[in-house]
Amino acid sequence: MELVFGTTRVVALAGDLTAQAVDVVVNAANVELRHGGGVAAAIARAAGPSLQAASDAWVAEHGPLREGDAAVTDAGALTADLVVHVAGPVYDPERDDNAARLAAAVVAALDATADSGRRTVAFPAISAGIYGYPRDRATRVLVTAVIDWVAAHPGVLDEVRLVGFDDGAAADFGRALTDR
Ligand code: ADP
Repeated sequence: MELVFGTTRVVALAGDLTAQAVDVVVNAANVELRHGGGVAAAIARAAGPSLQAASDAWVAEHGPLREGDAAVTDAGALTADLVVHVAGPVYDPERDDNAARLAAAVVAALDATADSGRRTVAFPAISAGIYGYPRDRATRVLVTAVIDWVAAHPGVLDEVRLVGFDDGAAADFGRALTDR
């Protein structure tokens, strides 16, 4: 599934985020940048030990990553040049700001990608794993935030890739794109 907005493609696909041939891979990180589980562990494994070392150095310098901010590190052995770490919200059904917090993570990642001068970026389904955000809703929030950002920044990025780990996740991203 692919939609084109001006010169920017927004693509939904199934696959391994760590294997994407893009300039920037977005990590669904925790605020400590301890890449112990989920897609963060997969990225850390594929990138090699330099990724956790660079993340530890970032936290030592800046303190814990704040929600709505991004930490940029080298990508080690990944095909990508950079990893942009953002922390999505832990889903809390008692709160009414889950979507706004998730959208803020997307905006932070896209702003950091643009600031780096890179033009292609791949996202996982941030918050939809260990952080418990219902995946069909998380993917809609992610897609809406991406499309709104792309519309506000024409010509800045060539491709935003939304990578579902399996066909179900890719279908959620695809439906969210189609329904927009
Ligand atoms: P969070 O803590 O933000 O919920 P997780 O890493 O637990 O983040 O999960 C985010 C999403 O990433 C989940 O949908 C999970 O299935 C998916 N995921 C895990 N590993 C990979 C991978 N290698 N490539 C793409 N997606 C992945």
